[in-house]
Amino acid sequence: MDNSLEDLLYIYALQNAVKHESAPKSGTVIGTVLGKHPEFRSRARELGPIAGKVIAEVAAMTPAERKSRLEELAPELLAELTETHEHIRELPALEGAENGVVMRFAPNPSGPLHLGHARASILNDYYVKRYGGRYVLRIEDTDPKRVDPEAYDMVREDVEWLGLGITDIVYQSDRLDIYYDLCRKLIELGGAYVCVCEPERFRELKLKGKACPCREQTVEENLELWQRMLDGEFYEGDVTVRVKTDLTHPDPAIRDYSAMRIVSSPPHPRVDATVFPLMNFSVAVDDHLLGITHVIRGKDHIANTRRQRYIFDYFGWKPPVYRHYGRMGISGVVLSTSGMREGIKSGLYTGWDDIHLGTLRAIARRGIEPDAVRNAMIDIGIGETDISFSWENLYARNKEIVDPKANRYFFVPDPVEVTIEGAPHREAHASLHPSDPSRGVRTLVAGGKVLLPRAEIEGRSMVRLKDLYNVRIAWDGDLPHLSYAGDSLDDARSEKAPIIQWLPAEAKLPCTLLQQEGSLEGFCEPRVAEEADRVVQFERIGFARIDSVEGGRVSAYFAHR
Ligand code: GLU
Repeated sequence: MDNSLEDLLYIYALQNAVKHESAPKSGTVIGTVLGKHPEFRSRARELGPIAGKVIAEVAAMTPAERKSRLEELAPELLAELTETHEHIRELPALEGAENGVVMRFAPNPSGPLHLGHARASILNDYYVKRYGGRYVLRIEDTDPKRVDPEAYDMVREDVEWLGLGITDIVYQSDRLDIYYDLCRKLIELGGAYVCVCEPERFRELKLKGKACPCREQTVEENLELWQRMLDGEFYEGDVTVRVKTDLTHPDPAIRDYSAMRIVSSPPHPRVDATVFPLMNFSVAVDDHLLGITHVIRGKDHIANTRRQRYIFDYFGWKPPVYRHYGRMGISGVVLSTSGMREGIKSGLYTGWDDIHLGTLRAIARRGIEPDAVRNAMIDIGIGETDISFSWENLYARNKEIVDPKANRYFFVPDPVEVTIEGAPHREAHASLHPSDPSRGVRTLVAGGKVLLPRAEIEGRSMVRLKDLYNVRIAWDGDLPHLSYAGDSLDDARSEKAPIIQWLPAEAKLPCTLLQQEGSLEGFCEPRVAEEADRVVQFERIGFARIDSVEGGRVSAYFAHR
């Protein structure tokens, strides 16, 4: 038997398995070996059976074992994988951006930021960083009914967490006089009128493409009504300022839309006012006055872009360059601010960072790093096609970041405490990180009883305790009898014994691993107590963020495998 050929197939099988996080594919492995080592092409026929054997071996290993074995045998092949994982993250160029841009992220302070906001803010941020310029955080708080006073701080914290390169912060509620002034000017230009029709009546006329009587008022009449609005002579719902658009516009939502209205309750948390602009007016005015050159926002804003265009045209302003990206469905988490708020109120969720929510603070709690969110959003890009958000991709991007940092530990969920007959007293030295020996080892002493994960031993006749020895399991009904079965890795391999995590029964810390689907109770290594607020890898389980260590108990949140 030619060892070099088997060895080659073995390391490429490992590389293939590590790369795809699954059992290796025979065809690909053989193809890779022949591609890199053409000297074996004349023996291509021998490869099949040898490949079959090594692939079965690699298939039986855990992902962590495959990786550490590859690291041992061919570190350069492992390195190759991390290099190819580095995506080239380049989005299409923006027209007219060569000399720098001014862009904005314009959230409503109605709750903390979620994944939908992350996309808008990261895409705009990307272009500001690429072309240079200014990035305005514009807090759009002109609807008192949708302002949560606590959201101002939450939005700022989330923006900081995301690492957005904000250069200016603007609160629209500080700019009411500017909107009032421009509203008056728009009336003077004949571009707007004050409408006192019943909303229902206006709607009927609008759907028929007909003008309401107010549209015929003179500029003077409109100015007088506008002044009366400002003087508090009208009540909420009685009156609105409308932008004159096109009454036969194919999209009825664009016909003479509202620009200003009265909101008397609740009171605004920052300003004492009752006349407020609606989004299309304040957004158009601010995009112009703040010198915004490019706007990247979702397709759901296309009708707004059309509405806002009228304001630019009346004033003779040059509109920014707009890009509208497709919708992004996000499954598995709650995203609606009202849904989240109600759930928090009723006790269904623990708070805005409950792991069932799609807020950035919930994702952070689960050990997802801001750069992973950024890379995932840039992978999604600014395409117009509707897509669904890929959690798998977010996890893969996060793994690239946390894998090199996270220390490794054992966590034994749903443990059984057992004595292993005939086992020698042993110390296991498990590395804190398989590819960074400088971090040292954890020492686990196997003297008396040990804890094993119930699900891993059930129905098995042999397991290998990682970094320790093999254990034979005999079953007496439901009762396992465990005995020492030597140290040979080959024996474990030939019996297809899984290599499992374990803990000394006397050195353990209670640990709860919280996941969206429920929590796992068990024990972890005592050293995990030093990892609060960091992401660790629980070997064979996955990455988790250590949320708290209190009263001798660890509470961890599962991130991903
Ligand atoms: N505040 C609005 C929103 O969050 C404005 C968005 C925009 O024009 O980009 O939907």
